[in-house]
Amino acid sequence: WRASNAERTFGGLQDQDRIFTNLYGEHDPLLQGALRRGDWYRTKDLIGKGRDWIINELKASGLRGRGGAGFPTGLKYSFMPKQSADGRPNYLVVNCDESEPGTAKDREIMRHDPHKLVEGMLLVGVAMGARAAYAYVRGEYVHERHQLERAVQEAYANGLLGRNACGSGYNFDVYVHYGAGAYICGEETALLESLEGKQGKPRLKPPFPANIGLYGCPSTVTNTETVSVVPTILRRGPDWFASLGRKNNSGTKLFIVSGHVNSPCVVEEEMSIPLRALIERHAGGVRGGWDNLLAVIPGGSSVPLIPKWICDDVMMDFDALRDVTSGLGTAAVIVMDKSTDVVAAIRRLSYFYKHESCGQCTPCREGTGWLWRIMQRMERGEARMAEIDMLWETSKHIEGHCICALADAAAWPVQGLIRHFRPEMERRIREYQAQAATAVNGEKT
Ligand code: SF4
Repeated sequence: WRASNAERTFGGLQDQDRIFTNLYGEHDPLLQGALRRGDWYRTKDLIGKGRDWIINELKASGLRGRGGAGFPTGLKYSFMPKQSADGRPNYLVVNCDESEPGTAKDREIMRHDPHKLVEGMLLVGVAMGARAAYAYVRGEYVHERHQLERAVQEAYANGLLGRNACGSGYNFDVYVHYGAGAYICGEETALLESLEGKQGKPRLKPPFPANIGLYGCPSTVTNTETVSVVPTILRRGPDWFASLGRKNNSGTKLFIVSGHVNSPCVVEEEMSIPLRALIERHAGGVRGGWDNLLAVIPGGSSVPLIPKWICDDVMMDFDALRDVTSGLGTAAVIVMDKSTDVVAAIRRLSYFYKHESCGQCTPCREGTGWLWRIMQRMERGEARMAEIDMLWETSKHIEGHCICALADAAAWPVQGLIRHFRPEMERRIREYQAQAATAVNGEKT
């Protein structure tokens, strides 16, 4: 997980290798601007190469899902049946329900580069054998869904979608659906339930969506950024994409840097960029300098935080961050300087997960509340020392024992806190107990 000397002096992504150029450019999301940037260029030819070619190109590129789990994209897409035996249609569902705290990359794509997403939906739809795609957009993203809807309308008006899309003979429709602001609807099966008009509660798996998904039909739910990079990979070739980053962690990636940095940003960089280089090159550095860094949550609120000594050398990719018991997640880097009350920060996240739990599974419904209540007392120092271990055990009873990953996401930040900041938790408890003892002694005298 440590960056080598060469990687520490990381050269950075060159402009010609950027996919989302409109994030930095004239901010012209309309079709004319998209055409100038190379979108929709010979899409008909790409469609003509067929499903197997698209999937094999994606496999060769090494693209891994950008929604957080990092599953190999080409492999995932290959799970879709070519034709279901009973004639059910295949569906593509794009997860634009970006709600992970700290994460704002899909927002930027919809806002500034929506045609990359729309063209990506068409090409991925071909790879799925799907004739329709649904984009499920986070309820709070009002401007973004308007941008996306406008791009879809432009594509229809110019023959890029609909009957005979791009003149390819392939019929393909895109529907934009609005969420209603529930974090859990970012979970793929809760999203499908919501899309069908039901409460957004995750389904038990199996059956997996590739067999029984939207309206009981084979479906693939895939992330906005993943879909949006597909047209560029198909045009430039898998070797180009695979040449960026490092083995099993290839390509470019949108990173979101927020918190105690001088210039919070969303930036496209090469995968495996050292965390320190990312923060110093693009976010203006940590407020007060690198030595003022306390900790970083490197991949959105659902992954454990890492302390400064790990941040000094770690690379930003799936495998390097897994090796330090954290994760790339959504690549949302939340920076905390030494002014941060780290126990309070994790307590606030515990509240978030308690609030967003759908309540189906007992360990999640009850356990997230337990975590939050214990974390409240930990923050004030009122807990007993033994409760640190109890907190750890509670998180372990939640992790891996529920229907969906929200439960794990609730457990991991707490585990990260105990793993790296146990002395701080103990200090608070000791100080509280000392104050309490002083008060009692004062009353006696
Ligand atoms: Fe609902 Fe939590 Fe169970 Fe997920 S883990 S289904 S959010 S109760």
